[in-house]
Amino acid sequence: MSSSKDIFEAACRVIPGGVNSPVRACKSVGAEPKIVSHGQGGRIFDVDGCAYVDLVCSWGPLILGHAHRAVVEAVGKQAAKGMSFGAATELELALAQKIVAALPSLEMVRLVNSGTEATMSAVRLARGVTGRSKVVKFDGCYHGHADTLLVAAGSGVATLGIPGSPGVPKAIAAETISLPFNDLARVEEAFERMGSDIACLIVEPIPANMGLVPPATGFLEGLRHITRKHEALLIFDEVITGFRVGYGGAQELFGIDPDLTTLGKIIGGGLPVGAFGGKAEYMKRLAPEGDIYQAGTLSGNPLATAAGLATLNVLEHREVYDELDKKDEYLLNGLVKLALGAGIPVRAARYGSMFGLFFTGTEVRDYETAKTSDTDRYARYWRSMLESGVWLAPSQFEVGFVSTAHTKEELDHVLESAATAFSSLS
Ligand code: PLP
Repeated sequence: MSSSKDIFEAACRVIPGGVNSPVRACKSVGAEPKIVSHGQGGRIFDVDGCAYVDLVCSWGPLILGHAHRAVVEAVGKQAAKGMSFGAATELELALAQKIVAALPSLEMVRLVNSGTEATMSAVRLARGVTGRSKVVKFDGCYHGHADTLLVAAGSGVATLGIPGSPGVPKAIAAETISLPFNDLARVEEAFERMGSDIACLIVEPIPANMGLVPPATGFLEGLRHITRKHEALLIFDEVITGFRVGYGGAQELFGIDPDLTTLGKIIGGGLPVGAFGGKAEYMKRLAPEGDIYQAGTLSGNPLATAAGLATLNVLEHREVYDELDKKDEYLLNGLVKLALGAGIPVRAARYGSMFGLFFTGTEVRDYETAKTSDTDRYARYWRSMLESGVWLAPSQFEVGFVSTAHTKEELDHVLESAATAFSSLS
């Protein structure tokens, strides 16, 4: 059987960087990627025969863990009936109804195939509805890799240190205004100056692509107020937070009513999916009902909708979130205690079943302060954790996820591993 090393070397010859999404290459933590063979419950396994407690959970979708029985069954059953029809199915209706029922701000929703497609389409809709072209976003917030949104984006771009990307035309980037997160005065100022040209403001209500950064009290309410005043659309990018921080997402948590919302990850139960939705008056502008074009060969794919539905069927029993919350709290409290005990300054935040841990003593409130983190220390921490069987995101600027499948023993294994890691870092 081939090793991770052999497979990765061969992959580098036919796949750019050997990976199909940059952060997976583990460059920022100075490692080569392990090649995954399978996952089960709270664990992921590599082809070298090692097992890891998985706190990445496929970057968020696997809130029920790997190969959850109900999800596997739903996908298997559907696969036997056909994998794609390019025609409407009842499954799509069922998923759309569930999403609309869960998120009060959504009156209608359209399914797509990725988070990138969702945000790109939501921005087109906002531009079409308002007849304006400019888009406001925040430094360090990542909304996928569409040209308009790949400006001062966090996550992979932050990790690789690429400001935007070659290939994004200057004229397109010039339509995007990127501002510091949590700075309402700067948002007000931008809207006072350019409000009549601004189609929308897109925000991760709880940014999770520059590490986890809590919104300051009143910040999201302020965004709602300013966008309304200037008749621009407020888009909540809940690709990560949707069905993660609670069944109603961040908008329920903070009681905010955005005009449009983008979703992905959990609503596909681990299969490729995305969605955007919002007020009917805007959504009805989409083709074929309206004049704003958006389409997709595999959109509403039966396997993805079956997996998503099976996942939401579990999550709609909201007590699941209490259980997840307890696990997340147990884990993060433990990690912080161990780090501080070892004399390592950290800043931490958590919502529901996601958590972030920065290696910095500075309070993190935006991308600038997130960057005060000691990324070299994170890289050493990551390597030590991997060595002892814990699968963390290979970047300081990502977050961790806990699933319903994680057991107390697995979380304790993470804490024991962290104790060893921290003692070697101090
Ligand atoms: N929006 C947010 C908040 C994300 O975190 C991501 C990806 O991680 C995206 C959009 C893009 O989603 P995808 O990678 O499915 O294109």
